[in-house]
Amino acid sequence: AKENGRNRYEFFTSSLSRMAAERVSLERDLRNALQKKQFELFYQPQIDLKTGELIGCEALIRWHHPKRGRVPPDAFIPIAEETGLIVEIGHWVLEEALQQLSLWTTDNSSFNMAINFSARQFNEDVPEVMKSLLQKYQIDGKKVTLEITESLLIKQPDQAINMLTKIRSLGINIALDDFGTGFSSLSYLKKFPLDKLKIDRSFIKEMHRNKDDIAITKSIIATAKHFDLTTIAEGVENEQQVTLLQEIGCDHIQGYFYSKPVPAFDMQQKIKQNTSG
Ligand code: C2E
Ligand code: CA
Ligand code: CA
Ligand code: CA
Repeated sequence: AKENGRNRYEFFTSSLSRMAAERVSLERDLRNALQKKQFELFYQPQIDLKTGELIGCEALIRWHHPKRGRVPPDAFIPIAEETGLIVEIGHWVLEEALQQLSLWTTDNSSFNMAINFSARQFNEDVPEVMKSLLQKYQIDGKKVTLEITESLLIKQPDQAINMLTKIRSLGINIALDDFGTGFSSLSYLKKFPLDKLKIDRSFIKEMHRNKDDIAITKSIIATAKHFDLTTIAEGVENEQQVTLLQEIGCDHIQGYFYSKPVPAFDMQQKIKQNTSG
């Protein structure tokens, strides 16, 4: 038994050090990924539930690793945040998404580009940076949404309010992502300058067979309406969910039911189909 215990211990430590080595190697590769042009943005359509129209998309980063293949963002965004690499990567995302939007949009289109924005990327230069990027690509701020999470709001609430106000004065929309998870509370909707609320997938996933999830989603939507916020349901995968969300008055949906995130070329085709039809 003693022998056995020691083996288990050795197994445990060696798997821990394997994980540490793995992390060091990912981090090293991440440092060079921008320069080696290994990132790509995919785009996931957002649909208006009333009209069925394509109203915009969310940009989602992809990392094509030469040896590991496609590394999912959940595996490297946290590392990028811890190391501060997210500042550079996030800037690349902003520029790439806005450049793409400038190629897709016309003056009279209202097609919207949503961009994920990490709390670690937030600093006092952001409003100026956004302003000059909008100028560079000749984009109306109304066509852009920054998706933030509660972590950005909790750290320094007053500073967050101040900066979000400056960013919104450029016309840019602010969406609160993953709403309903973590410690996010309805009181945020009163306190922070927001335009949209993204209802987390965890409430949508089982809603067609779970009355509790319907009740929660309903009350999120009712409260959001009170504050004049647009609601977007994330992770919509089937028709029953679409019908339920229509019934309870959700504004927009995003999810595999309509489309997975797709490369820029495919997104462009979808935009063309939508506007010519
Ligand atoms: P998120 O912002 O909540 O993005 C939604 C995630 O749900 C995406 O995963 C998307 O592919 C996935 N999804 C969409 N529809 C469905 C569905 O119907 N079913 C299921 N099961 N999943 C669905 P993805 O692309 O792997 O991104 C994961 C997370 O990584 C994102 O969560 C976001 O937090 C982060 N992320 C992605 N791109 C960026 C970026 O450019 N910058 C920053 N800071 N974070 C990013
Ligand atoms: Ca998001
Ligand atoms: Ca989300
Ligand atoms: Ca998320």
